Amino acid sequence: MRVVVAGGGLAGLTASLRATELGADEVILLEKGDRPGGSFLYSSGYIWSYRDMQTFRREAPGGDSSLQRLVFEQLESSIRWLEERSVPALTHETGNPLTFGARLDPARTVETLAGRITSSGARIYLRAALESLVEGSGGVAGVRVSSDGGSDFEPADATILASGGFGSSPELVRRYVIRGPGEMRVRANPWNTGDGFIAALAVGARPSAGLDEFYGRNLPAPPADFPPEEFVEVSQLYGRYAVAVNANGERYADEGADWSETALTRATAHQPGLRAWYILDSQALQRKVRERSVEDMVATARRVGGTVLRAGSLEGLAHKLAGRGVPPEKLLHTLEGYNAALAGGEGGKLSPPRSGPAAAVRVPPFVAVEVAPSITHTIGGLSVDAGCRVLRQAGGQPIPGLYAAGVEVGGVSVGGYTSGLAAALVFGRVAAESAVADNRGA
Ligand SMILES: Cc1cc2nc3c(=O)[nH]c(=O)nc-3n(C[C@H](O)[C@H](O)[C@H](O)COP(=O)(O)OP(=O)(O)OC[C@H]3O[C@@H](n4cnc5c(N)ncnc54)[C@H](O)[C@@H]3O)c2cc1C
Repeated sequence: MRVVVAGGGLAGLTASLRATELGADEVILLEKGDRPGGSFLYSSGYIWSYRDMQTFRREAPGGDSSLQRLVFEQLESSIRWLEERSVPALTHETGNPLTFGARLDPARTVETLAGRITSSGARIYLRAALESLVEGSGGVAGVRVSSDGGSDFEPADATILASGGFGSSPELVRRYVIRGPGEMRVRANPWNTGDGFIAALAVGARPSAGLDEFYGRNLPAPPADFPPEEFVEVSQLYGRYAVAVNANGERYADEGADWSETALTRATAHQPGLRAWYILDSQALQRKVRERSVEDMVATARRVGGTVLRAGSLEGLAHKLAGRGVPPEKLLHTLEGYNAALAGGEGGKLSPPRSGPAAAVRVPPFVAVEVAPSITHTIGGLSVDAGCRVLRQAGGQPIPGLYAAGVEVGGVSVGGYTSGLAAALVFGRVAAESAVADNRGA
């Protein structure tokens, strides 16, 4: 049996190793980039699930519950499996009472996994990109691969798509997510341009729900500039302590709607120019998010060239923002209404409403930080069954020979956010197990 895996992030590395150890005769891992590891290498390494299914459903209410259950039920054993084959987790705490899981060392995990894959006889090809899927009489019979050597056909009994979704394709992000003009900064590896997703649609795969959703972070807006290694540090994670206003000086989202601020980031992607301002007072600057103070995150924004304005009064701040195109009367009206509502304990009556932790913006000095949304990965992707078999649009049956893992599996966290690393690890294992079981003897 010959298994081809497209994509060498955590999902593809996991699928390759699992297929090898389950007895696939030949496993070939194609990686478009110049290194394995995908976005995992830039990540914080927290791999997690919500602590129970009730919380999972509440935090990602539009997601496919059978896939959520798969993550919830298989994460712990999958982490054990990974630790036995790579390096022990740094900790088994996630620091979030809503979740359980572990923190991995991305660089060491990728290095040991890749080493184990090649020493077990599988092959990893770098700068080798899946171009398209090739259909045979009974389903997918292999892939076309482009590399420095040209374009070749790789036959496969099972093809596992682990190519990371389409977050790095400005065109696909405009079409499916922004649904209009504009471009989001990519907070991920640059190679996830939707090749696997588009190739699967071309052989009749069914797209999942949530194609207009993404996971990302609000980052300091351009001209801020920083390398991928700083993606974690530059993230502006304090929307819940700020008042977020758009270029019209209006609030546009509930800043405290969810713990990961995914809803706020998504809403920012639909604001004029894909920009917003986080307005803070001195008390908000002292608040802490994950061991860091808000002030520290604002200082990072300034260090990387982001726009940070400061003033001794709200009028003074509005005057400075007027120089950036924000109408001052409108902004002051927004802030006055906000402060009045919170003073009366009526944040929930604001439009949009304001969930906790909410505080009035009243103690000088005041600060405004310009932010822009970035995309880490897409939420929509391919529809799969609970064995990660890609489903056909017509009829909903699995397409023989085609599997998906990681970000390519769509619809898990629609309406919220769940761990991308957990989806990579759990679905990577499940896809390989199905691929080997379905094609044994081939
Ligand atoms: C800054 C940052 C912090 C993060 N922190 C966390 C965290 O703490 N916890 C968490 O759960 N998640 C986190 N994430 C998200 C997490 O890293 C991703 O969800 C996860 O790594 C996705 O794994 P994947 O294997 O599905 O995709 P990827 O890691 O994106 O891998 C896809 C791979 O496919 C390759 N590829 C693309 N197209 C092709 C093609 N045509 N042919 C062959 N190969 C192709 C790409 O080069 C890439 O290597 C973070 C991400 C970032 C960027």
